[in-house]
Parts: sequence; structure tokens; C-alpha cells
Amino acid sequence: MNLIDLRSDTVTKPTPEMRIAMAQAEVGDDVYGDDPTVNKLQELAAQMAGKESALFVPSGTMGNLAAILAHCGRGDEAMLGDKAHTFLFEAGGISALGGIHSHQLPNQPDGSLLLADLEAGLRPDDDHFPPTRLILLENTHNRCGGTYQTPAYNKQVRDFSDQHGIKIHLDGARIFNAAVAQNLPLTALTEHVDSVTFCLSKGLSAPVGSLLCGTKDFIYKAHRARKMLGGGMRQAGILAAAGIVALTTMVERLSEDHARARKLADGLHEMRDLELESPATNMVFVTLRDSVKKSAIEIAEELKARGLLVGKVSERRVRMVTHYGINDGDVKDALAAWHAVLS
Ligand SMILES: *Cc1c(COP(=O)(O)O)cnc(C)c1O
Repeated sequence: MNLIDLRSDTVTKPTPEMRIAMAQAEVGDDVYGDDPTVNKLQELAAQMAGKESALFVPSGTMGNLAAILAHCGRGDEAMLGDKAHTFLFEAGGISALGGIHSHQLPNQPDGSLLLADLEAGLRPDDDHFPPTRLILLENTHNRCGGTYQTPAYNKQVRDFSDQHGIKIHLDGARIFNAAVAQNLPLTALTEHVDSVTFCLSKGLSAPVGSLLCGTKDFIYKAHRARKMLGGGMRQAGILAAAGIVALTTMVERLSEDHARARKLADGLHEMRDLELESPATNMVFVTLRDSVKKSAIEIAEELKARGLLVGKVSERRVRMVTHYGINDGDVKDALAAWHAVLS
């Protein structure tokens, strides 16, 4: 059976053009700085993000960790959302490996942090407190449903952080989804942050890798952190070649994923047993109403038997993510599977 895999956009496989670029990539030892394809990818990423410099890292998790290690020292504090990927899903690396204290603030439904909460969370200069060094933002916001924040919001956080001498790191794993959804160039969403991580291996469909972008000095420090974390790679141009194709050919088409997510949500909305959150980008979250006597895990199993894979978020909540591997027919078939399971 041909499975329709809506668990995540990380399940995307390289495009034919990526396979060719990978096979033909010029490579060298990137630990010596000798891989021309990695260098080209890093220059392209820095230019797209409007930053001085960029670093190719094996994963978004390592990109965020290297960034936070570069911004903060042991005993420093970072403010981040209580639904932030870095707080929930990165194995507590900033604390375990960096000795960095995390201070969680409530994420608003759109994934933002309230200025009032940042203000209240700021530590006074007093030897009882860890010094506040960093604010961590996430755009699009994964656990808040693929929601996005605007340049105007980023500017507000920038003004606040400038007043207090705090840096901002943006976990932009899906920043291109946020840019495409708002019809903005990437720079509009990165100009107000000090550093940004974005993933090549999600909606952009490359097999492996993320980019961390920031000033030259910042990337110099992050480069050492990457080495310490074991993320120095050798002939990584094979991977970077796919990344270049991702950045040059796969960004604009994300709007198709957003349109399919809306179509999927519209169809599910008609099923009375489901409570829908209107998708902002490529993620559809549904909550099972009380009329459904089965758990999300049981529903997911039954959907799987009908050829549809979904992500289980909690006892009553399921996530579906549209991506390059999903076409209009798949959306129709997914709706039919839901219909059958709920009837
Ligand atoms: C996927 C993701 C990451 C981490 O990426 P990996 O490459 O899986 O380590 C970080 N932040 C967000 C918001 C993500 O969705």
C-alpha cells in the first residue's frame, strides 16, 4: 500500500535535481574549510538571510545549541517559550551541555512571547539572579500549529532587547514557510534578530542539514561550538549540494503546501467529531471531540490501516503536515480515510 505520510515535512526525500547535484558535487575537507560546495551554500544562506556569515550544521537541534552556546556562557539565562522546540524537543541540551538556565514564558496562540512577559522575566542586576543574555523566538511556531510572527513583532522584541543589551536567536526551522505565507523576503523576518537557524531538511526537502546565520564574530564562536559538539563534517559538499538546490528551487513552492493544508483543514472541518485550528502554513492540528470515544493513538492506528500516517501530539490531538511528497489526490484520500475511521 502506498502510504500518505503526513507525520511531518521531515519525511520528504531529495528531488531528482538534488540527486544529480549530489552526485556531481565538488567536495573537499570542510574541517579544513576546503569544501567548495559547503562554502557556496554558506555564502548563499548568509546572503538570503541578510547576515555576514553562515555555518552548515547537521541538524536544526545542533544549530540552535551551537547558537545558544555562542551567545551565552554557563550560568547565563535564556528566555524562551514554554512550547518552544528548544525547550520541549532538544533533550535539554542548553542546560545539560551548556549550563544555561532556561526561563520559560507562556507562548501565545500565535507562538509569540508577550512584551509584558519579557519585561517581567528580565532579571535585575543582583547576585541572586542568573544574568538574562538571550531571547529565543520560533517562526513558524511548531507546537503552536505552524503559526507565524510578523516583522512588526520582531521589531518590538528588538527594541526591547536593545534597551537591555540582550541578544535574540530565532529558531527558524520553518522560516521560509513564514516568509512565503506573508509574501515577504526572508530578510524581512531575520533583520531584527542577531542569529537564525533554518532547516533544509523539512519543507525544502533536502536530505540533511541546517544553516546557522549571524555576524562573522558570532559564527566564529558557533564554529568552535559545532566542533565541540562533534558536528564538524568532512566531504559535506555532497549534502550541501542538495541544500543549494533546496534554497534555489524549493522555497516558492511552499505556498502549494499551505494551500493543501487549508484544503485538508476545510475537509476535516466538515466532520463534526473534530475541532480544527485554521492552518497558518503547512500544519493542521485537530482535536478529537468528546463524541469520539477512541484515543488519538487508536485513531492514528486505524488511519494507518487505511494508508494514512498522522502525528500523535497528545491523547486527543493529532498533527498533519503537508509537504513536497503530498499532492491534491493525497489530500482527497486522507479525507476519505478520516471519514471512514470516524463513521
Ligand atoms: C525540526 C525543528 C527543529 C530541529 O531540527 P532537527 O533538524 O530535527 O534537529 C528545531 N526547531 C523547530 C521549530 C523544528 O520544527
